[in-house]
Amino acid sequence: MTAPIADVLIPLALDQAYSYAVPPELTLAEGDVVQVPLGPRETVGVVWSLRDGAGSNLRRVTGRIGVEALSPALRRLVEWIARYTLAPKGSALAMALRLPEESRTETAKVGVRATGMPPSRMTPARAKVVAVAADGVVRGKRALSLEAGVSAGVVDGLIDDGVLETVALAPERVAEPPDPDHPHDPLSEPQAEAARALIATLTAPPAGGGEAGEAGEGGVTLLEGVTGSGKTEVYFEVVAEALRRDVQSLVLMPEIALTAQFLDRFAKRFGVRPAAWHSGIGGRRRERIRAGVASGEVQVVVGARSALFLPFRQLGLIVVDEEHEGAYKQDDGVCYHARDMAVVRGKLENAAVVLASATPAIETRVNAERGRYRRVVMPERFGGRRLPEIRAIDMRGEKVPRGRYLSPSLVSAIAETNARDEQALLFLNRRGYAPLTLCRACGHRYQCPNCSTWLVEHRFRRALVCHHCGHAERRPEACTECGTFDNLTACGPGVERIAEEVSATFPDKRVIVLSSDFPGGAERLRAELQTVAEGGCDIVVGTQLVAKGHNFPHLTLVGVLDADIGLTSGDPRAAERTFQLLQQVTGRAGRGEKPGRALVQTYQPEHPVIAALLSGDAERFYSEETAAREVAGLPPFGRLAALVISCTDREVAEAHGRALARVAEPPPGVMVLGPAEAPLALVRGRYRFRLLVKTEREIDLQGYLRDWLARGPKVRGNLRVGIDVDPQSFL
Ligand code: ADP
Ligand code: ZN
Repeated sequence: MTAPIADVLIPLALDQAYSYAVPPELTLAEGDVVQVPLGPRETVGVVWSLRDGAGSNLRRVTGRIGVEALSPALRRLVEWIARYTLAPKGSALAMALRLPEESRTETAKVGVRATGMPPSRMTPARAKVVAVAADGVVRGKRALSLEAGVSAGVVDGLIDDGVLETVALAPERVAEPPDPDHPHDPLSEPQAEAARALIATLTAPPAGGGEAGEAGEGGVTLLEGVTGSGKTEVYFEVVAEALRRDVQSLVLMPEIALTAQFLDRFAKRFGVRPAAWHSGIGGRRRERIRAGVASGEVQVVVGARSALFLPFRQLGLIVVDEEHEGAYKQDDGVCYHARDMAVVRGKLENAAVVLASATPAIETRVNAERGRYRRVVMPERFGGRRLPEIRAIDMRGEKVPRGRYLSPSLVSAIAETNARDEQALLFLNRRGYAPLTLCRACGHRYQCPNCSTWLVEHRFRRALVCHHCGHAERRPEACTECGTFDNLTACGPGVERIAEEVSATFPDKRVIVLSSDFPGGAERLRAELQTVAEGGCDIVVGTQLVAKGHNFPHLTLVGVLDADIGLTSGDPRAAERTFQLLQQVTGRAGRGEKPGRALVQTYQPEHPVIAALLSGDAERFYSEETAAREVAGLPPFGRLAALVISCTDREVAEAHGRALARVAEPPPGVMVLGPAEAPLALVRGRYRFRLLVKTEREIDLQGYLRDWLARGPKVRGNLRVGIDVDPQSFL
């Protein structure tokens, strides 16, 4: 006799599905979320496949769980990600199956209404309730007693008496339906043209058919528009069309760009805020959004990268805003790139994908040039506004006193700007007060005990902090090495130090420092961003947090304090990243009515990245950088993967790296470099070594890695081998 067998994938670091017998009283379908025994306990899993066979000696599925099943597309996405990143399938599944820690069922809200039966006994209080309820409308119990002006007990008595009956109220919606035709500013002609081109890719048929045109063929489109060109309004128009065609939309954003300002902007266009999905959304609400997305009630989600794994019922459009952002790459656990996986999900769902950026990734540009992606370009700012004029301040010719960082040219530009009642933004991509603290007497440098990094002084917190593991200690009065009092010195600037210098230089101006470790958390940070947007400060000093997606209408001057900072890292993406970041941050200037300008402090104005930025000729940068990548065989012209071997025991980590390298046996077209001590050699008490694999484009990188790792020594104890395909970080 045969019995149905379910192969159940469990959301743990396991690659195989486990087989269970399906009890006769249970009917299961693939994708169902079930409870199964695993060792001594019970766990959840997803039915990955069903088959016939003799299952008599298998353990049994305990039962189905009341969570929406995983759609075929979502299951394929899980498989795809696992195959691509070499993560265990179960780990990839865990991202799609984040269940609430405590599955509380929501207590249903109840209301009451009149049954039409007369009361067995009438009192003046009862008469008031009966009079109010006579219209047959369902009201909350409390609302009814308030309206009738009686106590809640009277209402309860009438329920017992059969005069009123209780009915379940429809649960409150997680998100009100956005209205595609909510009154809004009309698009400019270039915007409308871009929107039309994107709408033409939607695969859902137009409502009403006919003149609205035919359904498009999906695929990926790069929406490349300079900062301030009005890309957001353009993709909103595409979202509006998706709403009309009754398919769901997902807008992905880097987590820190997902601000109240953005949600309000959405509300201005659609009448209501969208369902927002990010790490700050808590248990109950998370579950309700998930359920709403699965039922189709939630039509638009704006979310950070994890929103990619929501169980959409009918996904028609994915927008990836700021697609070049490094923050889309998850660097631990399953190392996936949300932009690339959005493209995969789009394909699996037959949805249109829009990648929006002012400074696309080289990979995306090359894909567009080779015709794999469509490209829609918006070369001008909205409303005839001009792009900021960008000039270099050659620091070799400026007189800047020791321990100070603002050049005289920058100081006078700030003064002029403020004199016109306009704002200045000073950008330095370094949190804290100073990146290094040392003792002038003995030369001791303060280092993290767990990581190979200097401790960063944070003056607000009066602490020395590690930016990698979070270790914090009090800044000592006396050197912990030699005991000398008051002789510690801060080396180099962070934003707090710049703010100190700004306040000293402009004592009567209002200065705000903005960085991701802003004291008071996300809520206060949002409030501060709002203050800046409303013009409530004169000078903003900020890290890359302010470079992203914010609209500050009064901001007309951007000063970049150290443009050279990112150029020396030796990372293959250093040039691209620096260019993107500087382009974004200088693009904050002049987005409102008044024209803007940017001043860039640099010691090497002739460096190709800086020169390209100054010339305003992005095409030159892209063509040079693309050519350089091609010559070097770097992505997208070749493939890269990094192995990070880490262990609390340095020797063990290094030995494992060497043993792996010995069995690498790279075939033609594959190069294995290392092991080398990682630039961040110690993180959280773990010593790190790196191997880098570089292959030609046609090579099956994943296949090679799988074979190689299988030949390698067993991973034991607390040794870890992290696999990072398409690494973004080389630290
Ligand atoms: P981008 O995302 O391309 O940098 P935005 O979408 O933020 O540009 O638009 C830049 C500015 O222009 C914003 O202040 C926005 O409110 C304004 N804007 C864009 N489109 C319109 C429009 N159709 N009508 C009125 N204002 C617009
Ligand atoms: Zn540390």
